[in-house]
Amino acid sequence: MDVEKLKQMLEAKGIRPTFQRIKILEYLLTQKETHPTADEIYEVIHSQMPTLAKATVYNTLNTFVRHGIASVLMISGEEARYDPVVEPHPHFFCVKCKRVFNIQSAPIDDKCLNLKEIEGNKIFEVHVYFRGICKECLKKSS
Ligand SMILES: [Zn+2]
Ligand SMILES: [Zn+2]
Repeated sequence: MDVEKLKQMLEAKGIRPTFQRIKILEYLLTQKETHPTADEIYEVIHSQMPTLAKATVYNTLNTFVRHGIASVLMISGEEARYDPVVEPHPHFFCVKCKRVFNIQSAPIDDKCLNLKEIEGNKIFEVHVYFRGICKECLKKSS
């Protein structure tokens, strides 16, 4: 993705487009299916940018979440995963291989995913996830 576009995406959300933020956003946008952890993001970008500090990655991801550029998933109960897709969508967490992936055909309607209010309570985010064993792991164990 070209740097100008990435800069504009950050500026549109009121985030100052530093070189490091641009790099982190660029990488995150290639990870729409994998939902990497902060450490995984750090490892990849640090290998190309050895001066990058781990704290910068953590702070940047928090900034992205606060400004609606990324969403954070706490499905595994162990570590936060980051998703550049901010529109609500269902996920599956495999307890064996620890992958978190998108589910396209869950029988949950958009009305539920996009609820803004429920019983007088204001909703900020709707999370739908399934926990279990993925089909690849099922194949391996059978
Ligand atoms: Zn699995
Ligand atoms: Zn996702």
